[in-house]
Amino acid sequence: MEFDRAGMNALMDIVARPELVFVRGEGSWIEDHNGKRYMDFIQGWAVNSLGHCPPSVRRALEEQAGQIINPSPAYFNGPSMALAKRITGASCFDRVFFANSGAEANEGAIKLARKWGQLNRKGAYKIITMENSFHGRTLATMSASGKAGWDTLFAPQVPGFPKAVLNDLDSVKAHIDDETVAIMLEPVLGEAGVMPATREFMQGLRALADEHGLLLIVDEVQTGFGRTGTMFAYEQSGIEPDIMTLGKGIGGGVPLAALCARESVSCFAHGDQGGTYNGNPLMTAVGTAVFDELMADGFLESVRQRGQQLSEGLLALSEKWGLKGERGSGLLRALMLDRDEGPAIVQAAMARTPEGLLLNAPRPNLLRFMPALNVTEEEVAWTLARLDEIIAQVRK
Ligand SMILES: *Cc1c(COP(=O)(O)O)cnc(C)c1O
Repeated sequence: MEFDRAGMNALMDIVARPELVFVRGEGSWIEDHNGKRYMDFIQGWAVNSLGHCPPSVRRALEEQAGQIINPSPAYFNGPSMALAKRITGASCFDRVFFANSGAEANEGAIKLARKWGQLNRKGAYKIITMENSFHGRTLATMSASGKAGWDTLFAPQVPGFPKAVLNDLDSVKAHIDDETVAIMLEPVLGEAGVMPATREFMQGLRALADEHGLLLIVDEVQTGFGRTGTMFAYEQSGIEPDIMTLGKGIGGGVPLAALCARESVSCFAHGDQGGTYNGNPLMTAVGTAVFDELMADGFLESVRQRGQQLSEGLLALSEKWGLKGERGSGLLRALMLDRDEGPAIVQAAMARTPEGLLLNAPRPNLLRFMPALNVTEEEVAWTLARLDEIIAQVRK
């Protein structure tokens, strides 16, 4: 099949893309317009939690599309209520607002915290976030993010997001003043290169928040919905946050996200929050199907086992090639390289024949792994063996 150059030129050029069109996928495999297959360890950026085109997601879309697609966000619909009940039943939160992207869910979290500050903390509005964090690409979530260069890109920023250092409680304390209303972080910094917050840090933040009357907000857009081996990553630190956002994996590939809050924090008045597509039954029906598959007997256990297998395999590669180890949680992992070889490895993995391998290097000296949560033992083993060959090839 010919590559559609006119089609390429009709799209805004926002990122360097390979001249390939992906036409179909199944499970851990994806196929391009030339019929070449790739093992996909990116999965739409940790989005396709059940792999490509999983039967449960297809079934939910087909069944719901034959019933009702859009009654209006001003009316109740069954799938959004079913999914909200599942999420509140499985977490410490009492209320859910559905959104269409992680950034939109985080905007909602920021608005909710500011509203809560107006009602309870004399207008306190500042939210302490982390250096190198990523919370999305709207103006407010870019301002909340700690990505280098984002403070001047699209200036002026939305004010009120002082930056602390992950796993350094004193750096958080130093920013707390009368105008502080919340602390917000990813339990594992994803885009920063898979940097987990320690259990001590999470517990310290909870204590700090309680002491100063602040809200603790976890951005679980990347870590939530089973990615780290538990339904939500915060569970592993033994604390309960006040607000949580979800995205990516919750929709298994369709645009769905959520803002979750405890009852005492759910202070939006009518008209404060909303959106045309929010809680759309077509998307929330998919979220419900994904939730049920993740909660089935043994599923999260197998995520933990595959995470362990991947971790051990990456560590072995690190030792063999003199790399800098691996880190992560569940099936969100990174291999730390000893030089800036990430892009070359990603390139060679994609170019490999007959089958390619899709990997991601969020930083030049690091590879990130985000396979489907139902990836098999054989698929993980295959990927580790190919990675070994590709490192050898790049080093030659
Ligand atoms: C991807 C991501 C976002 C943004 O989600 P979008 O759906 O791209 O808007 C926010 N926070 C974290 C932690 C993410 O990984």
